[in-house]
Amino acid sequence: MFQKILIANRGEIALRVLRACKELGIQTVVVHSTADADAMHVRLADESVCIGPPPSRDSYLNIHQIVAACEITGADAVHPGYGFLSENAKFADILAAHNITFIGPSGDHIRIMGDKIEAKRTAKRLGIPVVPGSDGAVTDQKEARRIAAEIGYPVIIKASAGGGGRGMKVALTEADLEIALQTASTEAGAAFGDDAVYIEKYLEKPRHIEVQVFGDGFGRGVHFGERDCSLQRRHQKVWEEAPSPALNAEERARIGDICAKAIADLGYSGAGTIEFLYENGEFYFIEMNTRLQVEHPVTEAITGIDLVHEQIRVASGGGLSVKQEDIKFNGHAIECRINAEDPRTFTPSPGTITHFHTPGGLGIRVDSGVYSGYKIPPYYDSLIGKLIVHGRNRVECMMRLRRALDEFVVDGIKTTLPLFRDLVGNADIANGEYDIHWLEKYLAKGE
Ligand code: ADP
Repeated sequence: MFQKILIANRGEIALRVLRACKELGIQTVVVHSTADADAMHVRLADESVCIGPPPSRDSYLNIHQIVAACEITGADAVHPGYGFLSENAKFADILAAHNITFIGPSGDHIRIMGDKIEAKRTAKRLGIPVVPGSDGAVTDQKEARRIAAEIGYPVIIKASAGGGGRGMKVALTEADLEIALQTASTEAGAAFGDDAVYIEKYLEKPRHIEVQVFGDGFGRGVHFGERDCSLQRRHQKVWEEAPSPALNAEERARIGDICAKAIADLGYSGAGTIEFLYENGEFYFIEMNTRLQVEHPVTEAITGIDLVHEQIRVASGGGLSVKQEDIKFNGHAIECRINAEDPRTFTPSPGTITHFHTPGGLGIRVDSGVYSGYKIPPYYDSLIGKLIVHGRNRVECMMRLRRALDEFVVDGIKTTLPLFRDLVGNADIANGEYDIHWLEKYLAKGE
């Protein structure tokens, strides 16, 4: 087991990882920018190292500084959290070259899944169902027209290097195709430095369903069930739940088994998420994330298993603490991502939190790095906390969520809490009847 883990992240996820390390009796080091000197994870860590000024590229993305912080403090492993360097294959390789363990998969697996064309090809080879579309990158209009005609309109053009919901364009008919291909490719080049794009069938009313998987480091794969993350705004998840209200037990077992087998065949090690669109009873792979997800707590709530403990165990060579048959699903969980944003316009609202009071009681978990008097710096993403609620079934979970949202107080800044108070009272949400477009339509109506 590791003696000392360096946490290369900030905010709620840095605190989340720190808690797991403390429970396992592992010393913690955190790195931080000058803007985060007062952050909770810095206060609670055993050691902290300031690695640079506020901009991420000079601090949380500065590989040299992070490796230097490992050397200075004698950390033997790095947990990258999510975002920042968590899916950076070069970072994983550099740590390995310094004999520091990256708590995550190999650089090669990160590389395969970071290139969406390669990821899709790999998924197909492993027997995972994929969205019909081009086999690789599409460069000329003629080929694009042929493929689109074959799979049928509407189609979506996606950047191979894409992420965070950027670099996607929909073509409803052939008349839109030329411009969609051009703009997607130009945007991808500008945003990711790689203009390769591919085409796939645009699914009109899918749900976003993802499967939590783990490779144990000894060639075995398991799944921890699925999460439904269909409630999205601008392709960003807002509300997540486990299990999906749309799946039955047979579908759950079928897709879970396919994913667990694929992970074993790939020889993957650590946590991963295989993301699908789901429509008319069929699953279509869209991408795999090779890290811990923001929404992992809903899986922890229904399985009772600490996924960060498991990541640390696997990375240290100790394997998973559970076998597939030990993973049981119990009840229902929902997570609300609370952002420091205007709940209507979604413009960021940094500033000082004058009062912060979190709900409590049975089935309530709040993962947050903020506190009363904390000043949210304007440089980073606007997530200030996650409310995770567990109940014996979805109805109980929703009742508990409603009262937890009523108890939650964040003064001094605007937050998205009012949005969740609206959603929890909505009939479609109560019935679990929503697809990936539901939230945008709801917001456009301004209800
Ligand atoms: P990113 O890595 O940028 O998040 P994804 O491939 O995971 O990109 O897609 C993000 C979101 O975009 C999905 O959750 C879904 O809402 C939408 N999307 C992606 N591919 C399709 C598709 N073929 N049809 C319809 N919507 C899609």
